[in-house]
Amino acid sequence: MKKTVAAMLTAVLCMSVMAGCGSKAEEAAPTEETVAESTGTEESGQAEEAGSEEASEETEAPAEAADNAEGQDAEAAAVSEALADGVLNVGTNAEFPPFEYVNDSGEPDGFDIALIKAIGEKLGVEVQVDNMEFASLVSSIGTKIDVSIAGMTVTEERLNTVDFSDSYYEAIQNVLVLEGSEIAGADDLTGKAIGVQLGTTGDFIAEEIEGATVSQYNKGVDAVNDLVNGRLDCVIIDKNPALVFESKFEGKVIALDGGQFNFETENYAIAMPKGDTVLAEQINGALQALKDDGTFDALVAEYIEESNQ
Ligand code: GLN
Repeated sequence: MKKTVAAMLTAVLCMSVMAGCGSKAEEAAPTEETVAESTGTEESGQAEEAGSEEASEETEAPAEAADNAEGQDAEAAAVSEALADGVLNVGTNAEFPPFEYVNDSGEPDGFDIALIKAIGEKLGVEVQVDNMEFASLVSSIGTKIDVSIAGMTVTEERLNTVDFSDSYYEAIQNVLVLEGSEIAGADDLTGKAIGVQLGTTGDFIAEEIEGATVSQYNKGVDAVNDLVNGRLDCVIIDKNPALVFESKFEGKVIALDGGQFNFETENYAIAMPKGDTVLAEQINGALQALKDDGTFDALVAEYIEESNQ
């Protein structure tokens, strides 16, 4: 229903105002390639993996983890370090409706948040959500947070640092333009002023476009505001948020499908500490169970299909 979309957008816009609109990040982000399927654990180099595991054991074996494992006896050996304290700390960037946004109560909400909470329930752990900048998520895994769910696309570059769960959603970048714009295909993007969210796959695509001036924003909505204000020719952002912004700025902004620009499809997955195969198995198992019992489809209907209306 429209009401849901409106609530989501109000939340996104409010957050944007509070944090100060138009803040741009200066740093250029590295180019990445997306990968068609998540093959996280298989692709990780064994040598590297051993190194990072050692490091995390030293810094992270908390006393309460051992305490908590008592009484679980046989199962204790199969408990991931990330789950041993009974809490799954999840990082997200709640600026990406309908996957994550801040709701009217000021809490992170959305499809991804509902999904990770359902996964936590299956695993019998409490889920704590930390709202942070998108560009900080990957590097915070294994230290500040256990995992990240943030409409995050599986990319080769990210696989150097983290593993990914099985993919749970297929996406593609869209191009948001102003009504009446002549941009319609890949060639039309040459030399244009393009807005993106810093460190996202839309950012990496834009960096490759010949002659383009790319402005990176911490929040997608700030880029869309600059499009509406005439400072940008277009914004490259994932399809579902693009559709939400299109409906928010109805009559002003149009979302063009990425297929028109020869963009490749992308796969969203949960980013996890590299080499934690126990955690990967548990998260993938819970994800599968939620697909089998209909919960997953119900969440798609509630959060994603609803936002497209
Ligand atoms: N899917 C994009 C990426 O992974 C954007 C994600 C986001 O902005 N939350 O880079």
